[in-house]
Amino acid sequence: MSSPAQHPPLSVVIPLYEEADNLEPLMARVHEGLANYPGAWELICIDDGSRDDTGRRLRALAECYGPHLRIIQLRRNFGQTAAMQAGIDAARGELIATLDGDLQNDPADIPRLVAELLARDLDLLQGWRRHRQDDLLLRKVPSRLANLLIGWVTGLKLHDYGCSLKIYRSTVIKEIRLFGEMHRFIPVWVAGVTAPERIGESEVRHQPRRFGQSKYGISRTFRVVLDLLSAFFFLRFGARPGHFFGSIGLVFGLLGGMMMAHLLIVKFIMGQPIGQRPLLFTAILFIVVSIQFITTGVLAELMTRTLFAAGAKTHHRIRWQSDPKTAVWKVSP
Ligand code: UDP
Ligand code: MG
Repeated sequence: MSSPAQHPPLSVVIPLYEEADNLEPLMARVHEGLANYPGAWELICIDDGSRDDTGRRLRALAECYGPHLRIIQLRRNFGQTAAMQAGIDAARGELIATLDGDLQNDPADIPRLVAELLARDLDLLQGWRRHRQDDLLLRKVPSRLANLLIGWVTGLKLHDYGCSLKIYRSTVIKEIRLFGEMHRFIPVWVAGVTAPERIGESEVRHQPRRFGQSKYGISRTFRVVLDLLSAFFFLRFGARPGHFFGSIGLVFGLLGGMMMAHLLIVKFIMGQPIGQRPLLFTAILFIVVSIQFITTGVLAELMTRTLFAAGAKTHHRIRWQSDPKTAVWKVSP
């Protein structure tokens, strides 16, 4: 096994929404799984506005496990993506692991995944639930389709973009601001800030949910589809939306300009009137459309830049959190 010096500090981030009954086994599994982890680690649990006992039980568990267990309570239910973002913002580790709090992912996979990420020198190691234990029609089939589509559009060939169990270099994931249901397509966003060959995947274990229910039904699936479209758009044109809108604008501008030039020749060189020609209206229309597209492109470009520079801030969503000053790293004996 490698020495702690080779294992940079790790922050484990777990978003939790109404998972009260899963908490105790989860804490036990995380501590068992990381018992021999050859490096310092901390655990950040985000209570995403649960109305059940999750928040109170978390605090009780922090008393018993110690200050390497940090808690963030959001003011209301903001969704898994926002909860993950809050955890990522709080993470101090050079590496960040994310996973679900319902024990569908196995925390015992983390040390092996970290070692693999370091050995392969990756920025993101994506878990692959090869034997996924979820409903076939509602979850497995839509996610297969989504995975195929993402792979096709992005050229990034991963089997399971949506698996929450992932290891990141924190410099890379902190570069990205997540919103909507974007946690499902994180590799797509990561590919926007690193080289595709620095994103890898590795098989992980997957279990059926133990207690409680999945928070995702058919209505969230629709939102996911819309976010998928945004992710496509981002990856194709996101870096330079000005190029996308601008090139449509330039095509219209060129066509309109040619028609205008033709009409000017007809009028001034050939001396014929052009008064009632439909071509004149078409030319004017094309030029106006061109200006519209180009300005839309400039606006989109400004917006993307502002979004990425400022990012969605999560701190105002926090109702309560354990004092970051008392946070400590856990080091295996
Ligand atoms: N989750 C969350 N906020 C939400 C919905 C879910 O923090 O609004 C958490 C949830 O507690 C779990 C993880 O996100 O730890 C995955 O949720 P779930 O198990 O419902 O999703 P599935 O496994 O069915 O995709
Ligand atoms: Mg689950």
